[in-house]
Amino acid sequence: MQTGNLSSQVDELSIKQKGLHFLQNSAGARAALLLFSWILVWFSGALVEFSHHASVWFPPAGLTFAVFFVVGARAIPIVMLAAILVTLFTNKDYQIELQSVEAIEGGVLFGVAHILPYYAASQLLRWLTQTKQLTLPLSIISFLLIAAVASLIATFLVLNSLVFSDMMQLQEIMSTWLPFWIGDMAGIVVLSPLFFSIMHVIYPKKFFMLLEHIEGQLSTSTPQYKYKLLVSIALIVIAMLLAKFTQSMDSSFAIFFLVIPHMWIACTENAFFNILSLAVSSLLVVFLVDALELMEFVMVYQYAINVVATNAMFAIAVPALTAHNHQLKSKVFTDNLTQTASREYLIQRAISELRHAQWENKDLCLLVYDIDHFKKINDSHGHNAGDKALKILSESVKQLLRPNDLLGRFGGDEFIVVLPDTNQQTAMMVGNRLLAHINGMQLNDGEPLSISIGITEMQADDDFESLFKRADSALYEAKRSGRNCIYQH
Ligand code: GH3
Ligand code: MG
Repeated sequence: MQTGNLSSQVDELSIKQKGLHFLQNSAGARAALLLFSWILVWFSGALVEFSHHASVWFPPAGLTFAVFFVVGARAIPIVMLAAILVTLFTNKDYQIELQSVEAIEGGVLFGVAHILPYYAASQLLRWLTQTKQLTLPLSIISFLLIAAVASLIATFLVLNSLVFSDMMQLQEIMSTWLPFWIGDMAGIVVLSPLFFSIMHVIYPKKFFMLLEHIEGQLSTSTPQYKYKLLVSIALIVIAMLLAKFTQSMDSSFAIFFLVIPHMWIACTENAFFNILSLAVSSLLVVFLVDALELMEFVMVYQYAINVVATNAMFAIAVPALTAHNHQLKSKVFTDNLTQTASREYLIQRAISELRHAQWENKDLCLLVYDIDHFKKINDSHGHNAGDKALKILSESVKQLLRPNDLLGRFGGDEFIVVLPDTNQQTAMMVGNRLLAHINGMQLNDGEPLSISIGITEMQADDDFESLFKRADSALYEAKRSGRNCIYQH
């Protein structure tokens, strides 16, 4: 039984792989798929037609933009053919009486008006992200700006082409341009990132800087992703049912709460699941506008989708910036050579531990140690050997401390250990342990290594400076009385 399941899974997998392989290697199949997809997404846009020729949701714009970005000019004939076919369909649907030649001319004109701005815009974005190697946040800003301007130009060109080919009256432009523009812009902002990533699977050889952040992470969402998506879906359904039952414009604005689950997704999931969720939410909104007959409020929903998508797009940069921040933080907080806390971090943490101990009335000790005659090690064995000694020593000391103790390099061969919840007596035990352990250590040529230690216990009126001063003067006395020993103040 299990073998049967397994073999059917394997079969399924190989069918998928074969299908993908076929697509990746057959230009004809890719062209047919593009033509079919373009017409299919055009029909999904026709669901929320605001007025003749103006859909407040125009996914073909997203597909055109994405395919030009990935494939370039080679896709122009297919998009043109799709534009002509849908124009012929529209003329029939609206019962516009045009000769077939005129209708085809109208289709070509629409195709040119649609293709020109989106081709230019996609190539501009490609140039900016590839050649100029913009950072991710700048790439996203460019994408959003280019989408807004290109869709506005496309709106102007397409509406004028429709008037020119007698498919629309000149005076209709005023009432049509805004929903038309918002619809095209939503198509690009919400859907073209998803189309980018799908197309990248079909054209694996093409490399794009912009897609680096989306590809390679397709399969990894957090386990909570489905709940986040469910919250978005529930919110859309509730908000739109509310509008349906109250029939008031005010309640339709509830859809703007969608920004909350989408920002949650955008800040906690990878870029692919972020854009996938946007596509799901926008499709659901479109579907419900149609199913619940909410066309009266459709502009509110469309603005909401644009606002939510623009926010979520910016948030794509958040995980990248957080990771970058994390790297910078760990660089600043860690001493490069010894991998102990850096001086800055050590002081910062010591101050907060001190305040905490004083507030909670707890013990705290500071232990300062310094390698004996370290200059001599450098002089006789070289600087590299000195570096190695610092590293090995730090690793050993770390192993002798509790997880709550903080070891940091104060400078040169001087280190500080913050010992929270520790009184002077216990700190002396820790110091003796370090002393004994290090006393047994030797450099490569058998030369012994030793340290001197100063210890002090926190007083009620101590700040970091006074505490350190006492520990350091105890260390000075340890040095003066012959080294390899502990003094306490
Ligand atoms: P003392 O017993 O009095 O501490 O004598 P010392 O020779 O250890 O004197 P001191 O602590 O004042 O000298 C520290 C020396 O450590 C000076 C410097 O050349 C060396 N040093 C500081 N930082 C580094 C480092 O990152 N790598 C190496 N190899 N040496 C360092
Ligand atoms: Mg020293």
